[in-house]
Parts: sequence; structure tokens; C-alpha cells
Amino acid sequence: MTVADSLIVDIVELRRRTGTRRDVEITLMLDDMAVRDRFVVDGRLDVALTVEAITEGVAAHGVVNCTTRAPCRRCLDEVDGPMRLDFHEIFESEPTDGETWPIKDERIDLTPVIREIALLSLPLAPLCGDDCVGPEPERFPTGVYEEAQPVKDDRWAALEGLSFDE
Ligand SMILES: [Zn+2]
Repeated sequence: MTVADSLIVDIVELRRRTGTRRDVEITLMLDDMAVRDRFVVDGRLDVALTVEAITEGVAAHGVVNCTTRAPCRRCLDEVDGPMRLDFHEIFESEPTDGETWPIKDERIDLTPVIREIALLSLPLAPLCGDDCVGPEPERFPTGVYEEAQPVKDDRWAALEGLSFDE
């Protein structure tokens, strides 16, 4: 398995005939694969994709596998989980903003594509387990308030002083 910090595919051969395909398998190690406290562990993304010459340019479709880490929404402990993403993108010489990606110098750069797909899919509010009860009592005491005495209402305190035996 190839390991790299970018995924750029030369498409000169590919574009000689529409319908030509090429499979690529690679492990990407990218920096800054994080959105605040949610991130891709080690910035590692295992990618398997097929690039294909189409009339408009080049189609790239495949799957990305990685491990994500984010704080549990109840206890804030870090939770690891597998993430699998399918993608299907089009590359064109004159790309449509927000819809297709550029072909530059007869090459396509899938690095920003995969980065964006993964960052947008990071789990928002994972749970460390269905039985998570929330914060650790020692670190974030929540029971204190339940044991507190009920607050006395001053209006009743005045009545307590009254005697009806006179
Ligand atoms: Zn938890």
C-alpha cells in the first residue's frame, strides 16, 4: 500500500479514449484533519478509487476509510469510531464552482476533495456507549444539589413563631 501526503493522478493516458479506467489505492497522511476537537486520527485516510475518462472530463469515485475521534456528548471522554465515506466527483477543464473540480496540466488533485469530504463528515455528537451516564462524579459533581436542604420561605418562618395555645 502506497503512503503519501497527496493524491494527484496523471490523466494523459486516461483521456486518450473515453471509458478508460484506472484503479488507485493509497493511504493518505494529511495534516490538519481537524475541526476544533473533532478529528481524523493520525490524519490517516485509506482511499480506494477508480478514475474514468468521460466526455466532460474525468470521473473519480471510490471509498475513504478512516478513524475519527471526538468528545462524547455526555461525558466528554474521547470516542474513536470508524468512518466510511463513498464519493463520486467530476473533474473538468472548466469546472463549475461548488459542483465539479478542476483539471490542471492534465492532472487531477484529489487531495482537497478527500480532505473536504472527510472534514464535512466528522461526527458531531458521538456517544461513548449507550450506557454512558454522563460526567464522572468526581470531576463534575452533579449530586450535590440533590442533597441540599430545601430553601425555607420567609413567609412560612413568620407562622412558625405563632402559638395557638394561649
Ligand atoms: Zn460518554
